[in-house]
Amino acid sequence: MSVFSHTEFDNHEQVVFCHDKITGLKAIIAIHNTHRGPALGGCRMWNYRSDAEALNDVLRLSRGMTYKSALANLDLGGGKSVIIGDPRQHKTADLLAAMGRFLERTGHQYIAAEDSGTSVADLQVMAQHTHNVAGITAHLGIDGQPSNGDPSPATAYGTFIGLKTAVRHQLGRTELNGLQVAIQGIGNVGYRLAEYLHHAGAELYVTDIHPDQVQRAVQQFGATPVAQSEILSLDVDVIAPCALGAILNEDTIPQIKARVIAGAANNQLAAPRHDQMLRERGILYAPDYVLNAGGIIDIFYDRIGHDHNKVRAHIETIDDTLSEIFNRANEQQRPTGEIANTLAEERFKK
Ligand code: NAD
Repeated sequence: MSVFSHTEFDNHEQVVFCHDKITGLKAIIAIHNTHRGPALGGCRMWNYRSDAEALNDVLRLSRGMTYKSALANLDLGGGKSVIIGDPRQHKTADLLAAMGRFLERTGHQYIAAEDSGTSVADLQVMAQHTHNVAGITAHLGIDGQPSNGDPSPATAYGTFIGLKTAVRHQLGRTELNGLQVAIQGIGNVGYRLAEYLHHAGAELYVTDIHPDQVQRAVQQFGATPVAQSEILSLDVDVIAPCALGAILNEDTIPQIKARVIAGAANNQLAAPRHDQMLRERGILYAPDYVLNAGGIIDIFYDRIGHDHNKVRAHIETIDDTLSEIFNRANEQQRPTGEIANTLAEERFKK
């Protein structure tokens, strides 16, 4: 298994393979770039089919974190770690402790946070063996209410801010009253986004694979339920993907009638070329990793002393970053995802 010639290798500073014989821990820590500060990113536990699949994931995801933190104006670099194994079967306190000891050995170059397959409680076990974990202390959420560390409220707020920027830019509207928004996935982020939009007077269309989540949005916000297969082709102003990745692709883009795509789901573009395809159709795509940075901003403040007002103000800078991306995209006649990547590189390569 090669690393330096791997297709996802992008001048990563460190790739550490960790093995603990006693607990059976097999993990990989990838530190992509630390020019702006220590690399922060989730510690994922997943039942990878092979070591190669785990390496592919950690190289790709760690790079993504560098871009996300740079565009979120955080003094952080990008990193990620993966533990190979089924979280339901293989996760033990001893295994998490072993991971904590490996994290400590990175010498504060990488800080782990919760991710798929790991919880705040798991990170707290690791924290008994390392200082290099974040997002585990109780604090006030962005609404000033006690938070259990769940980053979703911050992510939803950032997505709402970014959606408003995109609507202002593309539709020339500063008020959301009567704006029609279709939300795909009404889970932790989607539901809270719906709440913000409802309070701002928007008209909502929602879908989810769980009918009870849809029903909750219908009852609370007067949302219109929509079939999963119809949500992306609805004749609305905005589509807010808040469920899955790769939903913007060859099949779906020709069907989209909305003029704005602004949601929290990670990796919405199935391939980089779909960025240009959206531009050619006159659809403004708000790059997902700019919109969904609220969570990482929240976790960052956990490290430096949490003040929910500062977190909120920092999340609101998503408006400035997106405006810069949209303006440059207009001037240079280039797609927004590509411009976002260029802007991130300017910030972290300095
Ligand atoms: P979640 O699991 O709470 O919600 C996702 C919802 O989408 C679920 O209700 C699920 O049933 C639904 N769903 C799944 N497949 C669907 C389909 N085919 N059609 C319609 N609905 C479907 O997750 P979340 O925390 O709300 O995150 C949503 C998205 O935002 C994910 O892509 C996630 O990676 C991204 N994101 C979340 C955060 C965060 O802080 N939670 C941060 C950054 C990015």
